[in-house]
Amino acid sequence: QRKPSLEYLNRIGATGGKIPLGLKRKGLRVVVTGGAGFVGSHLVDRLMARGDTVIVVDNFFTGRKENVMHHFSNPNFELIRHDVVEPILLEVDQIYHLACPASPVHYKFNPVKTIKTNVVGTLNMLGLAKRVGARFLLTSTSEVYGDPLQHPQVETYWGNVNPIGVRSCYDEGKRTAETLTMDYHRGANVEVRIARIFNTYGPRMCIDDGRVVSNFVAQALRKEPLTVYGDGKQTRSFQFVSDLVEGLMRLMEGEHVGPFNLGNPGEFTMLELAKVVQETIDHNANIEFRPNTEDDPHKRKPDITKAKELLGWEPKVSLRQGLPLMVKDFRQRVFGDQREGSS
Ligand code: NAD
Ligand code: UDP
Ligand code: UDP
Repeated sequence: QRKPSLEYLNRIGATGGKIPLGLKRKGLRVVVTGGAGFVGSHLVDRLMARGDTVIVVDNFFTGRKENVMHHFSNPNFELIRHDVVEPILLEVDQIYHLACPASPVHYKFNPVKTIKTNVVGTLNMLGLAKRVGARFLLTSTSEVYGDPLQHPQVETYWGNVNPIGVRSCYDEGKRTAETLTMDYHRGANVEVRIARIFNTYGPRMCIDDGRVVSNFVAQALRKEPLTVYGDGKQTRSFQFVSDLVEGLMRLMEGEHVGPFNLGNPGEFTMLELAKVVQETIDHNANIEFRPNTEDDPHKRKPDITKAKELLGWEPKVSLRQGLPLMVKDFRQRVFGDQREGSS
């Protein structure tokens, strides 16, 4: 009698998912938590295009069905309305764990919920990974470095984080999520990957999510002044979403746990960013200064040497190339909204 192939055994769960990656490559079952959000939906597009079976788990706090609707007729796609703070049973090979609001405005809206999502939500997804033998990838953040005293930030830097501030629900939540991830790796042999993502922009960002790129682009399109917080000399490094998705997939498929910085090292002050937005959308856009928010990090720029060396990854899209791609999407949505009288 013919022995069933490893791939078949893996599909029916008889191997607990523990077969070499090469054999699993065809038709992986992948769960993407937060897959209806900005980054998640772009990741889902790539996984679907590769022929994977994709299950999106999302509570639609900041995500939208519209971001993944184009997959609804594909039998390889499934969308589950579910809050990761509650346990869930699924049979999968890989877990991309993105569920968590990313804009400071959104994550400060209900800080206790944010920390529960990061801690209990991550615990549940790690419990799931342990039960089914799935590989787990955490989308952590450059915010684990806090208001950094080292510049640019290297993965070995432990950070400068206020544990009791208004951003702590996110910063400390993600730091705890990283700790849990490493403890499941060391204690329960779960295969894990950690990405520390730096500021990312692109199509499908929520128009009014309060992040600086989406704010400036929407403001310039609506002929409103660009709101620069503080003196505008604080810096960020902006990565286009397709570069991030490539980095996340390389990290998941590769052999290194991380953490890896995934970001574009091109560093801009907020005033410089405003200038690029003016050049791209409206040379006459005004700038309006507003008081800054509490604990705003002064500077941020990734050192991506590790990702370059071990993942063979580096960003390809500069801010000046990426911004017009986002503007096209925002233009459609901003003016579409106005026609419906809702903006
Ligand atoms: P987003 O807000 O667009 O997406 C987050 C998604 O998670 C949304 O679809 C939301 O509805 C969902 N979600 C939130 N809480 C949930 C819960 N309790 N249960 C189920 N679903 C929940 O944000 P994004 O920019 O796409 O960020 C995705 C991930 O990347 C987040 O984990 C974020 O912390 C991380 N990250 C993003 C950036 C960035 O610049 N975009 C930077 C650093 C880290
Ligand atoms: N969990 C889950 N789905 C699973 C397996 C576990 O949501 O398929 C949750 C489980 O409810 C628990 C968490 O993940 O809250 C951690 O699970 P683990 O088995 O590691 O710990 P324990 O249940 O022993 O506390
Ligand atoms: N910011 C700004 N104008 C805005 C929104 C944000 O000048 O309308 C600044 C904010 O003070 C911070 C930077 O832009 O210094 C990035 O903020 P964002 O909320 O996009 O992300 P963060 O990196 O702080 O998580």
